[in-house]
Amino acid sequence: MDYRDKKPRYKGICPVCGKTNWICKSIAMELGVNTGIGHCLGCNTFLNVKFNEERQEMDLEIYEDYVKRTSEKEE
Ligand SMILES: [Zn+2]
Repeated sequence: MDYRDKKPRYKGICPVCGKTNWICKSIAMELGVNTGIGHCLGCNTFLNVKFNEERQEMDLEIYEDYVKRTSEKEE
């Protein structure tokens, strides 16, 4: 039995190079913490990953932009 094949993968488009990445939910996401990090398979950009419940897809954002955006929101 290979459980890896049973894990659903969700589509996420890289905002930098436009490559479609297929991403599994992280353990944190399964537990309800909807945020993750990863590298684009195309350009290796460090990305923030967020699951979009409505579209059933992963939203990808350049990690630095994400940090900037979230720190601005807190001010
Ligand atoms: Zn990319």
